Amino acid sequence: MKQESVPVQKNQIVDVTFEDLTHDGAGVAKINGFPIFVQRALPGEASKVKIIKVKKNYAFGRLMETVKESPFRVAAPCPIFEQCGGCQMQHMSYGGQLKFKQKQVQDVLERIGGITNVKVHPTFGMDEPWRYRNKAQVPFGEEEGGLIAGFYAERSHRIIDMEACMIQNEKNDEVIKVVKDIAKKYGVRGYDDQKHKGTLRHVVTRHGKKTDELMVVIITKGKELPNKKNIVHEIREAIPNVKSIVQNINPKRTNVIFGDQTEVLWGEEVIYDFIGDIKFAISARSFYQVNPTQTEILYNKTLEYAGLTGHETVIDAYCGIGTISLFLAQKAKHVYGVEIVPEAITDAKNNAKLNNMDNVDFAVGEAEKVIPWWYSQGIRADVIVVDPPRKGCDEALLETIAKMKPERVVYVSCNPATLARDLKYLEGNGFETKEVQPVDMFPHTTHVENVALLEIKN
Ligand code: SAH
Repeated sequence: MKQESVPVQKNQIVDVTFEDLTHDGAGVAKINGFPIFVQRALPGEASKVKIIKVKKNYAFGRLMETVKESPFRVAAPCPIFEQCGGCQMQHMSYGGQLKFKQKQVQDVLERIGGITNVKVHPTFGMDEPWRYRNKAQVPFGEEEGGLIAGFYAERSHRIIDMEACMIQNEKNDEVIKVVKDIAKKYGVRGYDDQKHKGTLRHVVTRHGKKTDELMVVIITKGKELPNKKNIVHEIREAIPNVKSIVQNINPKRTNVIFGDQTEVLWGEEVIYDFIGDIKFAISARSFYQVNPTQTEILYNKTLEYAGLTGHETVIDAYCGIGTISLFLAQKAKHVYGVEIVPEAITDAKNNAKLNNMDNVDFAVGEAEKVIPWWYSQGIRADVIVVDPPRKGCDEALLETIAKMKPERVVYVSCNPATLARDLKYLEGNGFETKEVQPVDMFPHTTHVENVALLEIKN
């Protein structure tokens, strides 16, 4: 873009019309081609905006007044929506959010992948897009000597005391409230991350949607937790569904939530949940998708795209605790899963046993090293499923996929940009993208999960 000069100054008030949304949900307006990004503005809206920061090629503004509203605008139902960084899209109707996510995927596939002729289906949304999270991770601290627990104010480490989150399962909210009250009663000190002092850092709770089991994880700075026995007893009295109470110790000066040491204070080390018919054991630190309703939809689509008849050899790359692998193993001859975190593979093996499934093998390692090695050992897959982290697949893995020539590749992605990049590579190396299904795993946030089907070209 050729720019004569920067058309706005800090603190200036301008009238703009928004044309688009960025991937992180900010409205985009242009003045003589110069983009202005404004939080909580929607495409089609005409607004008065105060310029708050000016850079060489773009500026940020703050919404002062919306003169013409988008038909998708709604009043955000959560009273702390504007302070909390957790959700970004509550000011847009849910139907509008689903359309925005579909368009975002289409745009990115075209811009980054050069892919224009592929059907991107309407986003699969939730019938009831609230209270969906099965895990809460709540920071504890102190304010004027009193224990508080809530969330970090946007872009800061200041805790805002809070008791209900509208995207959190009610059971988790209840556990947090109970633990907060009990900790207050026993005078447990909240952690101060500036001074690195205090006891209670976080409480993490997990809920099994199908089993209704609850886990409580109390994360402390040191081993010491005064009145431990009474605290455990009172949690059990207050919440009968609690099946596991564990303490995790994190002595480090860090904003990583968990430390290395975990100790069961009462009950079991794990809770259980089901996705479809498959049972999973979930421990304090295991990775497990946070929206169980949409996870089942995502995995069913993955299974459908895999097109299994019972005779296929399947590779599940980036398999975590084996969720997708076991889902596929119901319909495949054999599944090989690979994952970099050793504890996750231990969980995956246990989960296979739990379900009496013996047609799966799991390996620890980098997908981009293990799969080429399998290839060198003569293993050939009919279907390869990948579900990489945000940075997408390593090129060495894509190269091996191109060599192995499976009939189908099913790409599960949490980042449309790296999905587009990797589809472009596979399209240039013998595969054709057939269709892409966005799934809304995180309503009211800007995240969008996708599953794409590729087939080998004849
Ligand atoms: N398929 C799983 C997990 C997907 S998340 C599920 O649906 O639950 C992505 C996973 O990739 C994480 O478990 C992460 O630990 C793993 N991972 C990251 N880099 C990797 C690599 N280079 N090789 C293999 N696994 C990797």
